[in-house]
Amino acid sequence: MIVGLLNQKGGVGKTTLSVNLAASLARTGARVLLIDADPQGSSLDWAAARQGAPLFSVVGLPRPTVHKEILQIGHGYDHIIIDGPPRVTDLARSAIMAADVVLIPVQPSPYDIWAADEVVKLIDEARVYKDHLKAAFVVNRKIANTAIGRDVGEALAAYPVLVLTASITQRVAFAEAAAQGLAVHEIDKEGPAAAEIEAVAAELMEFAR
Ligand code: ADP
Ligand code: MG
Repeated sequence: MIVGLLNQKGGVGKTTLSVNLAASLARTGARVLLIDADPQGSSLDWAAARQGAPLFSVVGLPRPTVHKEILQIGHGYDHIIIDGPPRVTDLARSAIMAADVVLIPVQPSPYDIWAADEVVKLIDEARVYKDHLKAAFVVNRKIANTAIGRDVGEALAAYPVLVLTASITQRVAFAEAAAQGLAVHEIDKEGPAAAEIEAVAAELMEFAR
């Protein structure tokens, strides 16, 4: 499975979800590659902050040729996660063309919901060449028990893209883990952040089949 985490909006959780989903898939024994397609290199920074053994491989590929290089670079891996770039459209296009499934993190804010039309447009364009391309929103940084947290699913339903049932809550564990180059399950194996990641990973696997 090749999953692209994409959204031209920055700060929505592309990198956070990329590293944690890659870690979750790797935990099942799968060979996982994380491609950092963002020139900022945040996934590479995450890997550099890590002290223990790597859970999965990370390579930087901030070029609009990911879709051409992925066959070679991804050889031998069971799953590939692409941590997408903000803004830069040609990079985002290449990442979308490389992916079987595009996962779009969105925060429960009207600005994020409006900004999602950009990435939806790119997916529509890509479907001209890849009609089997799957895409889904995943709500990130949900704040428990807020109306906006509940309404976001409804607002996103206006787009012709599925919204995953599983979502991720705003939790300090995500930032605390990232600071040490860890996945959330490594700092709190039984914790709610790890459980949310597992639920998103399971739904994603099911959706990708
Ligand atoms: P992007 O890659 O889309 O720019 P990041 O994954 O870097 O977004 O997230 C932006 C910031 O928000 C980071 O500081 C990250 O630690 C934080 N963050 C992302 N998701 C969560 C969450 N669910 N709970 C708490 N902090 C989060
Ligand atoms: Mg990022």
